[in-house]
Amino acid sequence: MLLVRTFQASRHHTFNTFRSFSTTQRRDADFTHAVIGGGAVIHAGLYYGHDSLKTKLCLQGKGMLYEYCKKNQVGFKNCGKWVVAQTDEQMAELQKVHDFATSMEIPIRFLSHEEAKRREPDVRAEAGVLESPSTGIVDSHGYMQALHGDFEEFGGTTALASPVSRIQAPPGGRGDWKIWTAPPSASEPIPSSPSAAVPELEGEDTSITAETIVNSAGLYACAINNMILPPERHRKPYYAKGSYFSYAKSHPKPSTLVYPAPMPGHGGLGTHLTIDMAGRVRFGPDVEWVDSPGDLAPTANTERFKAAVADIKSYLPSIDADDIALDYAGIRPKLGKLGAVASGKGFQDFYIKLEEGYDGFVNLLGIESPGLTASLAIAEEVHEMLYRR
Ligand SMILES: Cc1cc2nc3c(=O)[nH]c(=O)nc-3n(C[C@H](O)[C@H](O)[C@H](O)COP(=O)(O)OP(=O)(O)OC[C@H]3O[C@@H](n4cnc5c(N)ncnc54)[C@H](O)[C@@H]3O)c2cc1C
Repeated sequence: MLLVRTFQASRHHTFNTFRSFSTTQRRDADFTHAVIGGGAVIHAGLYYGHDSLKTKLCLQGKGMLYEYCKKNQVGFKNCGKWVVAQTDEQMAELQKVHDFATSMEIPIRFLSHEEAKRREPDVRAEAGVLESPSTGIVDSHGYMQALHGDFEEFGGTTALASPVSRIQAPPGGRGDWKIWTAPPSASEPIPSSPSAAVPELEGEDTSITAETIVNSAGLYACAINNMILPPERHRKPYYAKGSYFSYAKSHPKPSTLVYPAPMPGHGGLGTHLTIDMAGRVRFGPDVEWVDSPGDLAPTANTERFKAAVADIKSYLPSIDADDIALDYAGIRPKLGKLGAVASGKGFQDFYIKLEEGYDGFVNLLGIESPGLTASLAIAEEVHEMLYRR
């Protein structure tokens, strides 16, 4: 949990400045802001449709992230990405991506067969290649460290190993929030469907107060939402695990990221080729719906492995399957078993809202990919909601 005590950014102060609220009430919350949570590929913003928050914040965030990395010596490479099509049907999907990107002024272009063969002879693209030059990779740990350094330099306090177990909204909708934490060893530190009236947990210890509360608890954000809002506004979390695969050989090793054509309705972007900052090739993530946010071990399943290898071979036929091995896994916080791209049915946008009837509560749900790319723009969006609208 990230905690801030600031007068200038105080909700009450700023409301007085920007909204002419007549309150002169001075309150004594321990902190002005409590942020629950606060944790790649730099995405270009190709897949998320015209009117979505994902597109708006990915485009804004991409520029901010490149700038931030340059200023703060965070490692990144603007290595670009190829989206490849093997069939006419896939080519039609690439054409949609191309037209969307052009309409949004996102740099994009089709490569000729000759150029593609010359630049990446190992990559198979029977029907076509779309190149996104503004895509890149970032040292995500270095980025987190730089942000954390900034946060503490500006006077923020980080409460590690302090899982929030209970939250009391301000009585009558105005006043301070009260937040309890449990010791990290508590058997169920983050109850799956608690409510504001939940009884104290055994061993629950510390409590603090804050004027503003931001729920950015990732995989547990729905649990925090359900602690605060009434049952009719509870949300059910869905978990889409993605396993990654390593590759031990030094050949083939394209110098750009390679993605298959997007599959409408699919929960991810397909098992693609990524390169890490050390130049290692990795494939993934696939999509596997799991029941628990703790199910983080990569899934050793022969059928899934065969499917991933088949996906990879479709665009990198000379890969040696014997040197592909299960690596690690991550879980995307989803709000339904919905698609990752806007073409097709059931696209789920980010949910970022100042919750009605709950003064000072900003709720961030379903912050899956491109959440890292969009992170700085998401912060701006939250700030704008609290202080400028
Ligand atoms: C497999 C995979 C691939 C991805 N690829 C990309 C990509 O290429 N590009 C991209 O832009 N994004 C990508 N993402 C998405 C990106 O990682 C997320 O959008 C981003 O990490 C979300 O950040 P966050 O701060 O909202 O949540 P998180 O990073 O999940 O952080 C949440 C934090 O809240 C803490 N927390 C949870 N519950 C509590 C509680 N009760 N009390 C206190 N603290 C709590 C957790 O410990 C955690 O530290 C990917 C995600 C996955 C899973």
